[in-house]
Amino acid sequence: MNRLSDIGTIKDILSRHGFTFSKSLGQNFLINPSVCPRMAELSGAGQGTGVIEIGPGIGVLTTELCRLADKVVAVELDKRLLPVLDETLAEHDNVKIINADVLELDLHKLIAEEFDGMNVVVCANLPYYITSPVIMKLLEEKLPVAAITVMVQKEAAQRICAQVGSRMSGAVTVSVNYYAKPQMLFSVSAGSFMPAPKVDSAVIRLDVLEEPPVKTDEKKFFRVVKAAFSQRRKVISNSLSSGLSMDKEKVLQLLDGAGVPQNARAEALSLQNFADIANLL
Ligand code: SAM
Repeated sequence: MNRLSDIGTIKDILSRHGFTFSKSLGQNFLINPSVCPRMAELSGAGQGTGVIEIGPGIGVLTTELCRLADKVVAVELDKRLLPVLDETLAEHDNVKIINADVLELDLHKLIAEEFDGMNVVVCANLPYYITSPVIMKLLEEKLPVAAITVMVQKEAAQRICAQVGSRMSGAVTVSVNYYAKPQMLFSVSAGSFMPAPKVDSAVIRLDVLEEPPVKTDEKKFFRVVKAAFSQRRKVISNSLSSGLSMDKEKVLQLLDGAGVPQNARAEALSLQNFADIANLL
């Protein structure tokens, strides 16, 4: 069998299919042979598992997932890749390709129809232009998914995996930690892709929590998080006042009630702090 991460093999397949890379679809294909087996292994794909892959490209990660899991459903937006995938995945009978935009897809329906009774995980080398929307869709929709293992730009990985309450923490850190336990798995250099992107990447895994770690009204919680981080440099009393369009006096009362110092910055707050503020709103 041809090794799909081999650059000569990839060039041959792509030229035979007359394929050219689309920058706007975030098409940077993996050519480092050690990455996909490791990523698939760490994703939790195995016996009794169904895997959702987003953006299979020419199927380099898909092949590894097919070897480990009972079934793989890969969602690819670019229909020019469908004949390529027909060829590269021909030896696997446990894979289905869906030609769709993952952001538009009803994933609850997909899981119910394709993975009945299976433990489901997500594993993907994400197109970078939609990293956050995809991750937040997977989490916010409360899908019956145990873990999400994704390759993202290194900076995004560091932000997501930062400690809540630390300097690197941002709205995405708090939001992801509300739904999941994130961990950094390993870094991947820019040279591992064709074409090579400008920055390095990293693989992260989000283990989805059964219950959020704090009790709160979700809508209010996320309104507070968004407002708090809307102006990172400002102290929390100012960012909340402008972000929630609320009198400064009222915000100060709110912060006082939640036991949060008015001159703290959003990055220093814990999940419980955000929940306490939201619960007093
Ligand atoms: N998995 C392959 C690999 O690792 O070499 C390709 C990864 S490439 C970074 C991202 C893939 O996502 C491309 O195949 C691209 O066409 C696909 N894609 C881009 N936007 C998408 C969307 N909205 N829904 C589904 N797939 C998308």
